[in-house]
Amino acid sequence: MLNETHDPKLTSWVPGADRSGGDFPVQNLPFGVFRTRGAYEPWRGGVAIGDMIVDLRAACGLGVFNGLAGQAAEAASASTLNGLMAMGPTAWSALRLALSRTLRTGGTEADSLRSCLVAQESAEHAVPAQIGDYTDFLTSAHHMRNAGKIFQPDAPELPHFKWLPIAYHGRSSSVEVSGANFHRPLGQTRPPGAGQPVFGPSKRLDYEMELGFFVGAGNRRGEPIAIDEAEDHIFGVCLLNDWSARDVQAWESMPLGPFLAKNFMTSVSPWIVTMEALAPYRCALPREASDPPTLAHLQPRDGHVQGGLDIQLEVSLQTLSSGTTEMPLSRSSASHGYWSLAQMLAHHTEGGCNLRPGDLIGTGTQSGPTRGEEGCLLELSWGGREPVRLANGETRTFLEDGDTVIMRGWCERAGHARIGFGECRGTVLGSLARREI
Ligand code: CA
Repeated sequence: MLNETHDPKLTSWVPGADRSGGDFPVQNLPFGVFRTRGAYEPWRGGVAIGDMIVDLRAACGLGVFNGLAGQAAEAASASTLNGLMAMGPTAWSALRLALSRTLRTGGTEADSLRSCLVAQESAEHAVPAQIGDYTDFLTSAHHMRNAGKIFQPDAPELPHFKWLPIAYHGRSSSVEVSGANFHRPLGQTRPPGAGQPVFGPSKRLDYEMELGFFVGAGNRRGEPIAIDEAEDHIFGVCLLNDWSARDVQAWESMPLGPFLAKNFMTSVSPWIVTMEALAPYRCALPREASDPPTLAHLQPRDGHVQGGLDIQLEVSLQTLSSGTTEMPLSRSSASHGYWSLAQMLAHHTEGGCNLRPGDLIGTGTQSGPTRGEEGCLLELSWGGREPVRLANGETRTFLEDGDTVIMRGWCERAGHARIGFGECRGTVLGSLARREI
């Protein structure tokens, strides 16, 4: 549902908000948690606009927002956004409307809010919610097919992939915000042709370009969320990098799925773009005539007409040799995903599992149908057999120490504003110990 906050003609008085190609025009208004870098001050919620952040805690102190919007801003002033997430879409929407009316050119209360702006370049971020649980799905048919051919070339395609959204329970303790680095993980692997496994630093370290979404209001245990109500329980979307040790994964994963291959680190972008902000960029989910029918409990009332999200996704790499130059690795769109966020969430709860505000859910690697759209090095280098050539002449099959992976996402559609997610970046450091046998 579009409203006045999506009007592409809106401009803003905040520096940088109207810049062509910018991520944070007044039509976006994503939420995050920040403080002035290095300052002894509390983390609190903020909203990105242009080059600035609206400090919601300061705005509450000045009484800028009233009514439900004021209550939502008060909840967002805390050191995590769980309280705001728990309030539900009516409150989120009220705050978005109040922010839009204040931040747009000629906006009301603009003078009050001017003193509540903090430059993004002087801010640092925290993970925007206290994440109780983290779940990661596998919803790209292209990623499923490619990874299947690479890991198990003789195995048939997964028979359940188009009947239910496949997932595993991840680890929330190691979810970090963009900019956090990590040491190459140690683990047990079985090198090709080796009779027995070895222990040591992963030699096949990878990234996975995913979207993440945060749960808004939760549900009681034993009370599933129906498919047509699922979106009301989704606060918004971020970029997510599910760093993966492929050699550990290949050895450990059968039959229970990934464990140490993925639990050492997950990166999220600092800004959460709300479902309301994403409304103009919805699209149909891809379905083919040969696909099985979607069972009724996962079938939204409107079919699959608006289930998808046309979010452009781009991954690039910086190496020790390239310095700050970013070299492109892949480019795709989240519109290729087979299952919608609502279907993932409804499926997650259908057996009675309770979700809580701030839970994080990953979509799985977002790969597209053609070469160059693969969302991880495993696919781009086809299991390490076809090295990827970088713009500076280097090649990669998997990540090397000192590599920085940068993910970006944005939405563009004729007749609507361009909105973006900012970036999600992380650097691989050398392993802490070298205890190879
Ligand atoms: Ca994943």
